[in-house]
Amino acid sequence: MALPLTQIEGVPQRDGLICGTAYFSGTGPSDRHCGSCKHYGYYRLSRFNKSYRTMGCHMFKKLTGKHGPRLKKWTASCKYYEEKVNAKHGAPEGASVGG
Ligand code: SF4
Repeated sequence: MALPLTQIEGVPQRDGLICGTAYFSGTGPSDRHCGSCKHYGYYRLSRFNKSYRTMGCHMFKKLTGKHGPRLKKWTASCKYYEEKVNAKHGAPEGASVGG
């Protein structure tokens, strides 16, 4: 039988711990995911000195100095979440443009 543990308000729970995220998953905006974050995906060099795109978190790389594993785009956002901006229209991705 598991002992009841104290949950401290404002302290993330272990459930939000996903390897490769910059912070606990689920601590960002509730309706947002890594796939729409500007830190999701970046270019890195392979050991053969070729550039390729990895779908890891660039903020994780900035904070730890290491490349993290690729993340699923529907991973719940963390506190470092920043809306990805559509370069063509300057609008957040997913937002309707024009009309
Ligand atoms: S929400 Fe953004 S900063 Fe946070 S783990 Fe996902 S991609 Fe990285």
